Amino acid sequence: MIETPYYLIDKAKLTRNMERIAHVREKSGAKALLALKCFATWSVFDLMRDYMDGTTSSSLFEVRLGRERFGKETHAYSVAYGDNEIDEVVSHADKIIFNSISQLERFADKAAGIARGLRLNPQVSSSSFDLADPARPFSRLGEWDVPKVERVMDRINGFMIHNNCENKDFGLFDRMLGEIEERFGALIARVDWVSLGGGIHFTGDDYPVDAFSARLRAFSDRYGVQIYLEPGEASITKSTTLEVTVLDTLYNGKNLAIVDSSIEAHMLDLLIYRETAKVLPNEGSHSYMICGKSCLAGDVFGEFRFAEELKVGDRISFQDAAGYTMVKKNWFNGVKMPAIAIRELDGSVRTVREFTYADYEQSLS
Ligand SMILES: *Cc1c(COP(=O)(O)O)cnc(C)c1O
Repeated sequence: MIETPYYLIDKAKLTRNMERIAHVREKSGAKALLALKCFATWSVFDLMRDYMDGTTSSSLFEVRLGRERFGKETHAYSVAYGDNEIDEVVSHADKIIFNSISQLERFADKAAGIARGLRLNPQVSSSSFDLADPARPFSRLGEWDVPKVERVMDRINGFMIHNNCENKDFGLFDRMLGEIEERFGALIARVDWVSLGGGIHFTGDDYPVDAFSARLRAFSDRYGVQIYLEPGEASITKSTTLEVTVLDTLYNGKNLAIVDSSIEAHMLDLLIYRETAKVLPNEGSHSYMICGKSCLAGDVFGEFRFAEELKVGDRISFQDAAGYTMVKKNWFNGVKMPAIAIRELDGSVRTVREFTYADYEQSLS
């Protein structure tokens, strides 16, 4: 048995998402790039590579990882590039998408050897969190002024628009795309490719993938463009768990169980968005608040139900621990970083990475 804590990526569950992505690619003609900012655990890229067209990135290190570990088509994007990194970014990328007209003008010549694009901000989004809303007031994410964009059309041949966020609602996606067409249709007709970004939950169980694919195909036919999708969460959703062990139990008005992990160190995204972890089946007559072992008072994974009383040594699996989770793990409190294990398609489990004291020590100096 592998020592906890560890993230467990299940290749069979990952394959289910991959097959849905492949289906949409085939039906719609769109290409699908993995958004590395969501998930960058390259040990499973061997599987993902067969179902996706490549990767997209938010930084020099991500574009390099995409090129070296995933291969295939590699898109570079960043909110802002520095003079000291642009040459290396270009060397790893097939396409580069600038966030602003000023970045495009600054680096257009350096990127003249690859396809160049610009991020558009349609000023509509599906996000319910201000923190993650690309269309929030005064957003720095992309250009929206059509006459300004028109002046740089000679230097770009594509656009990127990312305004969906965990959007499970095809109707909403469709309406927002309609608004984008009204606003930017004349510009879109003049480029070769448009990336519609991530945040579309099209691998979810009830998502109408055929209507979605038809909508994408109609868009790409109307404007004569290659569409790209940049699924992050949709690529890896429900594929991974965080496996932990109960270290202590106590009663302080509620039953508490402390585990060998920390929400702040190992599932930080949940804390940022004030969500709780998921435990399945979450049924039974024993209710516990599951707490992390860091000294943060609010280091709480959530309250869950169990069939039996919890005792020291019991194992718990937190569901859906891939997206924005492994990429955000950190060394807060010096809590042991979870190892990474993979359940292969034949059911065998192998550990691909363990973190040690030396990794902790070397993360600072
Ligand atoms: C975050 C992001 C993605 C991935 O978003 P998901 O919600 O994980 O699908 C894709 N493209 C861009 C530009 C992003 O910022």
